[in-house]
Amino acid sequence: MTVLFIADRAKRARAGLSGLAMVAGEGVEYSSDPAYLFTRRPAEGRRVALVSGGGAGHEPMHGGFVGRGGLDAACPGEIFTSPHNRQIYAASAQVALPDGVLHIVKNYTGDVLNFSIAAERLRADGIAVEQVLVDDDWGSRDAGKVGRRGTAATVIVEKVLGAAADAGWSLAELAALGRDVVARSRTVAVASEAHRSPGDGGRAFEVSPGSLEFGVGIHGEPARERIDVTDLDGLVDRMVDALTADLSAPEGVVVLVNGLGGTGQLELLHFGDAAARALMARRVPIRSLVTGAYCTALDMRGVSLTVVDADPEWLPHWYADHGTPGLPRPTVFAGVDDVHATGREEGASTHASPWLQNLADRTERLRDHFNALDQAAGDGDFGDNIAVGVSHAVRRGDAEDDLVADLGHLASAFLDDVGGSSGPLLGLVFGGIASRAADAPGDALAGAVLAGLGDALTAVQRAGGAQRGDRTLVDALAAVVDDAGRRDVEGLDGTSVLAAIEGAGATAEMVGGRGRAAYVGERAIGRPDPGAVAVAWLCALLWQAVTGDSSDQADTALEALLADG
Ligand code: ADP
Ligand code: MG
Repeated sequence: MTVLFIADRAKRARAGLSGLAMVAGEGVEYSSDPAYLFTRRPAEGRRVALVSGGGAGHEPMHGGFVGRGGLDAACPGEIFTSPHNRQIYAASAQVALPDGVLHIVKNYTGDVLNFSIAAERLRADGIAVEQVLVDDDWGSRDAGKVGRRGTAATVIVEKVLGAAADAGWSLAELAALGRDVVARSRTVAVASEAHRSPGDGGRAFEVSPGSLEFGVGIHGEPARERIDVTDLDGLVDRMVDALTADLSAPEGVVVLVNGLGGTGQLELLHFGDAAARALMARRVPIRSLVTGAYCTALDMRGVSLTVVDADPEWLPHWYADHGTPGLPRPTVFAGVDDVHATGREEGASTHASPWLQNLADRTERLRDHFNALDQAAGDGDFGDNIAVGVSHAVRRGDAEDDLVADLGHLASAFLDDVGGSSGPLLGLVFGGIASRAADAPGDALAGAVLAGLGDALTAVQRAGGAQRGDRTLVDALAAVVDDAGRRDVEGLDGTSVLAAIEGAGATAEMVGGRGRAAYVGERAIGRPDPGAVAVAWLCALLWQAVTGDSSDQADTALEALLADG
């Protein structure tokens, strides 16, 4: 296991802090010894300075929250280590305003101790200090005397207090507001992989495949509970139930879906969508939904869900604009209306013709093989794409045994409903064959299929620009057309099918000239192009349909191609 840059823990914490100062831009300054970030330019009306901090490793919290509408100073310790009281004292003294300083502290023994000692030193200097302690974590609700841990609700507390401080609230008012937001907040976190140690790249703890740490913290300690992975909706239900069991939220909730550092943006949005739907299903009104990585645990692969019982008194502070690089930019939740749904998914037929149903069954069986071929030279989705196209054609189809109609359904399904490169290109292939077949008498189908493949080749080359030798489906398509031209035959026959298979097989020795295979160069060599194999396979199926031939010569050759390498 490796990390991108191996770094000394202390060095990384410092470099991260100075990096945050650079990202924050004008107005935010960096002190290296003791280490903290601060702003010299609080909003004009601000009477109380907001100071927070804690171990590094949770970026952008807290350094990224310094600036207009946020914190006046942030002091990070080393990774997952509380800051020293000297840092907190110096940072607070630097930014203190006439009404004093408010410390926002996550509930961990070391943090509480160091902030409290710094507060004593500040008071001795005549500076008024109050503390807001954040303890939102559901996973540590039974922790006894030490109490619950402080986690992602800190983001919400700091955002709300930042805007209220800019509005000129007093120290006592801000402290009361902060405590109220904390009391209304609960967070639960899950992780499928621990963070990697910045030193040696090893995982802090192991999570067995198929399970999740449920109620995990943000410092690399495993959770008390380990659960089996369910589908996303099941997981979100469980998390929402944990948070809403004793929640009364007459004014609705603010929802924060927070990435723990190793979770992709799309996954967070997917999770946010599921969480919002779960809350709506429980008739909990949502005032605001934010997704993003705000309170991370290095690169832990996981997500936390925070639900806050909203108060209209402070909601405007939550929505307020700010000038920090790291705080969320919440919007007023408006749900989602699907204004252009086609309804194609519903009410469709489930009775495909025997030919189309057979194609669908075989596609399902070959799906993984096609994905594997695409993985070797592309992104591994070719089998999925072709399966989507065929299943959409099945929905469009009817039970009637009509090859020409089925080809039409396949053409429109692949053109309209399948993404990737292959979807629309295969749509052109089916379309070419379908339109020739539509005009042909029943006994001239073999000729129509061959002519259709010729039209398809022209259309595919016009759209995609591939030539023979570029390692695409053109290599199979052109092989059939060229072979028929050489032999001067009028219709698709067994030899054509073998030519297609040979054309597809030859791609195994080619370097990609078009499509994703072009990006991997020589590494694609050894396995054939999935699009070319699929075209050869379709030629075999069409030939069998047209001639009624049921020999398995073509199947055997194709299986060899798919299994190869
Ligand atoms: P994507 O590359 O977008 O993931 P698919 O995996 O669905 O698309 O399809 C990959 C196949 O598309 C390739 O195996 C290749 O046969 C075909 N292909 C890609 N680009 C072209 C092109 N320009 N002309 C013809 N076929 C192409
Ligand atoms: Mg692909």
